Amino acid sequence: MEKIKVAILGATGTVGQRFVQLLGNHVWFEISELVASDRSAGKPYHEAVNWKLDTEIPQKIKNLVVKPTSELKTLNSKIAFSGLDSTVAGEIELECAKLGLAVVSNASNYRMEKDVPLIIPEINSDHLSVLPFQQKKRGFKKGFIVTNSNCAMMFFTLVFGAIQTKFKITKAIVTTMQAISGAGYPGVASMDILGNVIPFIKGEADKVETEPQKILGKVVGNEIVSASFPISASVNRVPVFDGHLATVSFGLEEKTSVAKISTLLKNFVSLPQELKLPTAPNFPVVVREEADRPQPRLDLNVNQGMSAIVGKLQICPVLDFKMTVLGHNTIRGAAGAAILNAELLFKKGLI
Ligand code: NAP
Repeated sequence: MEKIKVAILGATGTVGQRFVQLLGNHVWFEISELVASDRSAGKPYHEAVNWKLDTEIPQKIKNLVVKPTSELKTLNSKIAFSGLDSTVAGEIELECAKLGLAVVSNASNYRMEKDVPLIIPEINSDHLSVLPFQQKKRGFKKGFIVTNSNCAMMFFTLVFGAIQTKFKITKAIVTTMQAISGAGYPGVASMDILGNVIPFIKGEADKVETEPQKILGKVVGNEIVSASFPISASVNRVPVFDGHLATVSFGLEEKTSVAKISTLLKNFVSLPQELKLPTAPNFPVVVREEADRPQPRLDLNVNQGMSAIVGKLQICPVLDFKMTVLGHNTIRGAAGAAILNAELLFKKGLI
């Protein structure tokens, strides 16, 4: 099969670098174009980027010249993966969709729009059914915008989705401990974060309190309607390089047991596994039984960073159950999630 040409918007950033790493050798997709700001445009990628990953820049990408956003019209890719800063993503992604590209975005700009699917492929692939309506409403002929969620709530929402195959979540209280790579580069100043915890991340608590309900919501008519259960979130930046950890207490409508939930999570598989999408983990949720797991340093790269790792699943004396959930914020929380979304779109014949 001839590979599908893809562009990476924001290719020099933290998420952009993950895209380059994960797509460097992809079986279906081939990086054809890299786009970033005027600061980077015109330079070969290896000169433009401040590469921070522990693998080399893929050989065939090193000398690809970064394009400016003023040249979007010259793109000949079918898919635009976006790792753009949200201050600029809105207009650039819109222009790409108008130009006919499938925009698969990490940015928050369109996530909560009722005609834009906010997808975790294991949970709500049916939300893609709003795309024809989105195209009609926004005047896109061939292009469209699909988003993945905020990296702090992706993992517990994936777990909630698995739980909701049998039970109904009624409320949740979430406290996150988020890695510094979640803030992009250079992110939080070292003098602020070393030996410290910062109990504030701009705009983040709102996203954690609203995006899960959209993912766990339903398509009604041509729009996505969010589920109605409440979430109370407290978010913290902690001195960890990669990996967002969250403690989560949740209520359920039905009576059940820790053992039943644990078995449900361990056996959970869904569409990406059935379709054998190349980036899909064999098991999207991994359950650890030890009292001191999961930990970012020990558990982050399980299943190539594409699974949510659950531990400390137990009865909660306030709500019904509680657990600790870990995930790789720049892989399943960002670039890996977008690539899985694009694989699903391709397999469903939407690209
Ligand atoms: P980042 O490291 O700051 O990278 C931002 C990228 O946007 C860079 O490639 C930058 O290019 C580009 N950019 C900035 N201004 C631009 C402009 N005017 N025109 C074109 N390109 C421009 O940020 P990040 O952490 O990778 O985050 C990228 C997006 O993903 C954000 O929307 C963020 O909210 C979201 N996200 C991040 C994570 C994470 O864990 N980091 C997880 C989920 C979602 P230059 O290098 O040329 O300036």
